[in-house]
Amino acid sequence: MNPTVYLAKIEDGASVGLQAEAVKKVLTATGFSKSLRKLDMVAIKVHVGEKNNTTHVKPELVAEAVNISRSAGAQPFITDTATLYKGERENAIKHTIHAYRHGFHVGRTGAPFIALDGLSGTDEAEVEVNGQLHNTVKIAGQVLLADALIVISHATGHMGSGIGAAIKNVGMGLTSRSGKMRQHSSITPEVNPEKCENCGKCRKWCPTDAISERENVSYIAREDCIGCGECIAVCRYGAVKYDFAIESPVLQRSMAEHAAGVIRHFREKVVYLNVLTDMTRDCDCLNKRQKKEVPDIGVLGSKDIVAIDQATLDITARVHGQNLGEKFHPKLDPAIQIEHAEKMGLGNRKYRLTPVGQVPEIAGL
Ligand code: SF4
Ligand code: SF4
Repeated sequence: MNPTVYLAKIEDGASVGLQAEAVKKVLTATGFSKSLRKLDMVAIKVHVGEKNNTTHVKPELVAEAVNISRSAGAQPFITDTATLYKGERENAIKHTIHAYRHGFHVGRTGAPFIALDGLSGTDEAEVEVNGQLHNTVKIAGQVLLADALIVISHATGHMGSGIGAAIKNVGMGLTSRSGKMRQHSSITPEVNPEKCENCGKCRKWCPTDAISERENVSYIAREDCIGCGECIAVCRYGAVKYDFAIESPVLQRSMAEHAAGVIRHFREKVVYLNVLTDMTRDCDCLNKRQKKEVPDIGVLGSKDIVAIDQATLDITARVHGQNLGEKFHPKLDPAIQIEHAEKMGLGNRKYRLTPVGQVPEIAGL
């Protein structure tokens, strides 16, 4: 039977309280809490948003997942891993303090924030996936100590993979530093000297010091670049060239294979929530305030990572005329990650969409 994707629709601009109510409805509908046993350690994967990001999923929504897990007798905690790039989430200490600033702490959510990849993102476990690209992948080491997983993803566009949703949140977001580097290794940016204003921002943010100043412009040393994409994100002058149309398919397939390494550990004890509110052109990793580009839709919930990301594309296409990837990054095809995840046996692209709760009418749905 095709998997079910539950949808709790909300009105555009609905309050955080109503969004949290939608999370509660879909998570309850999935029946996830029935899979939990007393004292199970439940990892709730979130993205707290980089500094200056205001459109990330809010802690009140996460608190609903905490409450549901705790009511089942489990021990929930909020989690994420260190980023490759420099920023507020580059190690567990900065990340925890930053998570606190954005409201992801015991006082506001009822659960502590604990990184699953150690102090510096190097605590890892190598697991077999037998994929097309990788035989093994390196995931965050403490994943293997958790009993269950709730993945809460903010649906956005993404400059490398077309969309950022559940597959990306798990595949990139629950791997170790070297797991992330491997996924990004196909990205090879170059600086266009005609456009470079020599502002130095890319040099400041590059995590491997691969960028130096040469003849009053920036220059990227290929051999030192790990393909994190940070220079692309921070350059305000469009001076960093890259060809994601060529590199994106490899990145997406690699992401799906890394997601497999995490998900297979949890078997049936995993559930996904995609939050389709405050949807932006790029993901919450960017250190800037982004504007909401399309009206809010609601919250999706499913026990199938393939189905929920496929539904995210389908539903945004039905409501907005174009799916999130087509709208924001038309040169990329985000379906690649979903198809590859299906090939890896992570789920099914065919699904049943089931509305939950009293819902407002949304044109297209
Ligand atoms: S951020 Fe862009 S403009 Fe500034 S130095 Fe780097 S490439 Fe040049
Ligand atoms: S040069 Fe490479 S490693 Fe440095 S920021 Fe750009 S993509 Fe990342």
